[in-house]
Amino acid sequence: MQRYQECRLCPRDCGADRAAGQLGFCGETAECRVASYGPHYGEEPCFSGTRGSGTLFFSGCSSQCFFCQNHQISLGHHGRAMSADQLHASAHQMIRAGVHNLNFVTPDHFWPHIEELCGRLRAEGATLPFLFNSSGYQAPEMVVRYAEWMDIFLPDFKFAEPDLAFVCMRDRRYPELTLEALRRMVAAKGFLEPWDPEGGALATRGVLVRHLVLPGYVANSLAVLRLLRAEFGPLLPLSVMSQFQPVENCMERRHLDRSVTSAEYEQVCQAVEELGFRHVFVQPHGGDAAFLPDFHRDSPFRGNTRRSG
Ligand code: SF4
Repeated sequence: MQRYQECRLCPRDCGADRAAGQLGFCGETAECRVASYGPHYGEEPCFSGTRGSGTLFFSGCSSQCFFCQNHQISLGHHGRAMSADQLHASAHQMIRAGVHNLNFVTPDHFWPHIEELCGRLRAEGATLPFLFNSSGYQAPEMVVRYAEWMDIFLPDFKFAEPDLAFVCMRDRRYPELTLEALRRMVAAKGFLEPWDPEGGALATRGVLVRHLVLPGYVANSLAVLRLLRAEFGPLLPLSVMSQFQPVENCMERRHLDRSVTSAEYEQVCQAVEELGFRHVFVQPHGGDAAFLPDFHRDSPFRGNTRRSG
């Protein structure tokens, strides 16, 4: 709990005394809250496999992007408090169900809880990969700590343009901070392996970078790709996503208030090819609507219900 006093877990560095019940910029106190957990089939095939990725979706977020596709939990803070034992029990339940990995979604602001949980599970003999699924907006110096427990990093790289980052999440430093965090993730774990675009071989270790194409911002996507290519070369594994859907905030602001056109997505995919990236997941245009979440439902993803049913 000490690490939640004067909290410096993320680049906001806001110093909130979360242990005393104060809310940080991430909108959370030291009470660990989870919006949903269970086997999830909406990740890339090398994580979802046939038995699902064991996701724990944490409430709150240090990024606070206004267009967040998980806005009900990141901005709306939907979720319920879980004790360390309850977290442990939920992880165990998924492991018993046979999930291929434990997938911690937006874990950075609850890292002390997660670190403890990982230690406990490893001490009990859990061998499945642990996956850090994040916005990319991480304090670079924290990455080495994450890497002590995590096998796989699945960070976003959302913005190459500082001004766009500022408009969306109020921090111009996103591109430089994220690039540095990615450098450290790659240094610690290497690229995702084994690489199997069909997902027959499940991922066990390494880094896969995600990029969500934003409507009207193809230039940002191209700049992201160029930065990644220059920094990591053509073998960096990428997931280029077309699934953006405008949420209520987008409509209110009249910004990012439509989905991505097929022409925009194709332009980005063409750049992926021209830059020579070889290990890439792409999506059907618009993604799969069955995996648009509604965290107010018992099972937030209709696609998961379909699988389990
Ligand atoms: S994790 Fe939350 S409380 Fe801690 S520094 Fe970041 S925004 Fe502030």
